[in-house]
Amino acid sequence: MSREVEGQSGSVKDHIAYASDLDILIPLTQRVPMFDVTFGYYTGYGNPLFSLGGGVVYSVLKYIVLKYHVLKGYKVIETPIIARTTLYKLSGHLDMYRENMFVFDLEGDEYALKPMNCPFHILAFISLVERYGNRLKLPFKVFELGTVHRDERSGSLRGLMRARRFTQDDAHIFTTESMIVPSILNVFRELKEIYEKLFHMPVTKESVTLRVSLSDRERIGEKYLGTPEEWELAEGKLREIAEEIKKEYGIEYYEARGEAAFYGPKLDVVAFIEDRRTGEKKDWQIGTIQFDFNLPKKFRLNEIVRKYTDVDEKVYMIHRALLGSLERFMGVYLERYQGRLVFPLAPLQVLIIGITTGDEEVDKQIAQQVNTVEEGLVKEGYRAVGKLVAKTRLSGYVRKVESTIKPPVIAYIGKREVARGEVALSIYDLAKRRRVKETVQGLPGVLSKLDEIEAPVRELIGEDPRLPVILDYLAPQE
Ligand code: ZN
Repeated sequence: MSREVEGQSGSVKDHIAYASDLDILIPLTQRVPMFDVTFGYYTGYGNPLFSLGGGVVYSVLKYIVLKYHVLKGYKVIETPIIARTTLYKLSGHLDMYRENMFVFDLEGDEYALKPMNCPFHILAFISLVERYGNRLKLPFKVFELGTVHRDERSGSLRGLMRARRFTQDDAHIFTTESMIVPSILNVFRELKEIYEKLFHMPVTKESVTLRVSLSDRERIGEKYLGTPEEWELAEGKLREIAEEIKKEYGIEYYEARGEAAFYGPKLDVVAFIEDRRTGEKKDWQIGTIQFDFNLPKKFRLNEIVRKYTDVDEKVYMIHRALLGSLERFMGVYLERYQGRLVFPLAPLQVLIIGITTGDEEVDKQIAQQVNTVEEGLVKEGYRAVGKLVAKTRLSGYVRKVESTIKPPVIAYIGKREVARGEVALSIYDLAKRRRVKETVQGLPGVLSKLDEIEAPVRELIGEDPRLPVILDYLAPQE
């Protein structure tokens, strides 16, 4: 029996192949049976079609992110997918960003698919200020899992990495000048917490750096909205924050001239993760915080806040996303971690393998124990499936499992385990990038181990992130 092969097998693939192995994505280049065309022929490209494993990953990820933000004081909003282009005319997107927008006619009126959530969030903020005045406390934080559409050139489309439709963990913070720095520092701490506790990705001086994206001074007023004085103030604040983060965490920053958004400078967190396909360390922008003094001006936020509240400081806006596009995040994560998902997100979390011996009496006990563990886990809301595999075929079977569905936990029950009432667990450790083994006592032992694995996410959202969708077809055939 060669359990050693686990965790090392698997050639290097791109994220679309991993996503297809994990039943996350239906590959659009694949042929539709009985029709001489591909799935993409019907869906169009750049428009990911998730499968049922993807439904699990996406839903759990969205729930964790949503609950986390609510606990951090963000209010949740839901905004439409289309809007009249009047909204994007006012925000400036129609002038600065039109080539990336899907614009269409509706009864003689011009509409667009939403390319950004911000203008809707501002409209909501305006209405809230008018209705609730001083009862609304600044900084005011609005969060949405906002689905947007952007027109990317077909040549640049690539699976989840670059799609025309994606969902952002998007939030906007409306704040006075004095609260800009503490608000952005909080966002950085939130980013650090979610990457470390949910994805086991350290956000430390060894693993990330900050990029402060600034304007190109000569092009203020043309490529960048606003005055040189406003850019001066905004860029100064971001530098102050970068210095603060350096002091607190030792994380270095560098400045990138000409990389700012048209409405303000940005602070991007860039991680370095080894790309196993090429062996080189590659940049991965894992979060962005943008400082904006332009949209507040265009939507006359200062006048509105002054009229309906006692606040007489200037109002600014912070745009921020911790994961950014959830699709792109998943794509990069799948490639960098070779299709190994964290336990809470994996479509199949626990595969229980009963190793049959050919001895009828022993095999009956093994089957029974597999059943007990499977039922016990499913009852607790885990996505677990049991499978009986002959001892002689075990290594081939495990190789198949490790090159496709890669469950974070494999539980083995063989002759020895049954005799001792044990379960031999093989748990994938994302930091060590290999499986570690541990023997526990029966179902209670398995449950307490899984509880331990979930602990960091429980710290994030105050509950167990379980979505008991049973996809038993995911366990490969022997
Ligand atoms: Zn925004």
